[in-house]
Amino acid sequence: MEPLETMVKTVAVIGAGVSGLISLKCCVDEGLEPTCFERTEDIGGLWRFKESVEDGRASIYQSVITNTSKEMSCFSDFPMPEDFPNFLHNSKLLEYFRIFAKKFDLLKYIQFQTLVISVKRRPDFSSSGQWEVVTQRDGQEHSKVFDAVMVCSGHHIIPHIPLGSFPGIERFKGQYFHSRQYKHPEGFEGKRVLVIGIGNSASDIAVELSKKANQVFISTRHGSWVMGRMSKDGYPWDMMFHTRFSSMLKNILPRTVLKWMMEQQVNRWFNHENYGLEPHNKYLMKEPILNDDLPSRLLYGVIKVKSKVKKLTETSAIFEDGTVEEPIDVIILATGYTFSFPFLEDSFVKVENNMVSLYKYMFPPQLKKSTLACIGLIQPLGSIFPTVELQARWATRVFKGLCSLPSEQTMMEDIIKRNEKRIDLFGESQSQILQTYYIDYLDELALEIGAKPDLLPLLLKDPKLAVKLYFGPCNSYQYRLEGPGQWEGARNAILTQKQRILKPLKTRTLNTASNSSASFLLKILGLLVVVVAFIFQLQWL
Ligand code: FAD
Ligand code: NAP
Repeated sequence: MEPLETMVKTVAVIGAGVSGLISLKCCVDEGLEPTCFERTEDIGGLWRFKESVEDGRASIYQSVITNTSKEMSCFSDFPMPEDFPNFLHNSKLLEYFRIFAKKFDLLKYIQFQTLVISVKRRPDFSSSGQWEVVTQRDGQEHSKVFDAVMVCSGHHIIPHIPLGSFPGIERFKGQYFHSRQYKHPEGFEGKRVLVIGIGNSASDIAVELSKKANQVFISTRHGSWVMGRMSKDGYPWDMMFHTRFSSMLKNILPRTVLKWMMEQQVNRWFNHENYGLEPHNKYLMKEPILNDDLPSRLLYGVIKVKSKVKKLTETSAIFEDGTVEEPIDVIILATGYTFSFPFLEDSFVKVENNMVSLYKYMFPPQLKKSTLACIGLIQPLGSIFPTVELQARWATRVFKGLCSLPSEQTMMEDIIKRNEKRIDLFGESQSQILQTYYIDYLDELALEIGAKPDLLPLLLKDPKLAVKLYFGPCNSYQYRLEGPGQWEGARNAILTQKQRILKPLKTRTLNTASNSSASFLLKILGLLVVVVAFIFQLQWL
């Protein structure tokens, strides 16, 4: 596809969650004129907790804490404040978004309480590439023409409720609901709760409820690996896991070796087979659960793992292995999400044959002009925040004609090939439909805009930095070292990340000086003992 000839200036950004906010900033950075439409009264999307569930917006429980660390989740030219904890409560992450929006003066571009109801190509689309965006505010409809559109409306809004998978649920006399409805553990005291699914929602909710309920069961059809947020020496897991070195190993080692390594690593914490959690298909590289407490709750017996639900009766659950749990008072369907874009013309973003029809999860290939991009319709194995940032950086440069997309046929071929690879790596389950590897995908996007760090020349120019880039955590700052949007603070941010990790932990002053002099004295003493022993030994000879 040719670079855009039309001059794109105005961009409609749909949604003011993290994807919308970073899209706004990228538009401004590229000199575009964005207008963001947000259906609610505030920014933050999923991360703005509310006691009640709202139509059309993701809903989280009060206790959600990020499972990706602050250094791996911040935007590339805006590290999180030093004193922020490494894993953030949702309110703290929202605070970061607020500081970010203020710093880059983004609020002025947002029209709150404005719902986008339709996005249609203009009749002259094949020459202008323009869109007509219809919004609704206070019951009034408004229409405006935009040169480009960034769809940032999220994909954790529509609950996936596969009632057909649970025969008998219509007769069940207890309460059942989707995890989206869950807010607090209060009200579950003394209950026997069945949580279905084993994603991060299921495990978080089961752990929290197990402190109040009489008994919690988790039913899983495929099992899952479980990891803790804490890795070697207490560093956040993702800072150890997502390095260029480990990514290289992952790409060159045979799958059997990778599988073996993964198994060794996760089973070092606890034996997944003994705890009934081992995945059926260990060759799949599915997203592991990040949960620090699940194994211990299983050890205490307050949570029990069960196999797939075969049938439900009025008061009980019968599982595939023939076991029965009775009574069951509450069933929570933590069965994930599905997505749709009701405001978009039918043919664009759809899921067909277990495949999302978007080039690199962003661009509908069939458009004559590439003036529409989805931002955030992806589930990377790492943090989504740097991912949506690179998506937005690329999209805005495509809009401006600074980057071009290949032909429709090439894009379609890529979509099909990528999807086959995805199924091979992560499996066919509905929960994996947007799953991608992390660093590979980030590098792919960075390459498009010329911001992928070039390690060989860097090794000669700045070996200390090059070594950090290769063996250290692959964080977003790496993509601000060169190319468009270079940030002069990027090198320093990479070299000082340890400081920002330790700052919120070192809250007690330790008298390290006296400690080190004590250990020095001990060493001297030890040496003296050895020397004396040696002299005595000589005397005996
Ligand atoms: P959202 O946050 O859902 O924002 C979409 C916005 O669009 C909303 O404000 C909504 O009101 C608005 N909107 C929707 N439709 C319209 C419309 N028609 N008109 C106008 N406005 C509209 N990822 C990580 O990397 N790390 C984590 O720790 C992590 N934790 C998670 C925890 C939970 C419980 C869940 C469900 C997901 C988590 N994720 C995590 C993934 C998550 O998708 C991202 O963190 C991120 O919040 C997605 O942001 P978004 O802006 O794309 O979507
Ligand atoms: P999810 O990851 O999609 O998990 C859904 C679960 O439901 C899977 O275990 C799936 O099993 C199961 N399931 C789906 N259909 C089923 C059926 N018909 N019968 C039985 N089981 C079925 O959803 P989620 O846990 O809500 O998580 C959504 C996203 O939010 C993820 O990216 C997650 O990491 C994120 N999240 C993060 C946090 C956090 O940061 N603390 C908390 C919650 C969620 P199969 O795998 O077998 O299909």
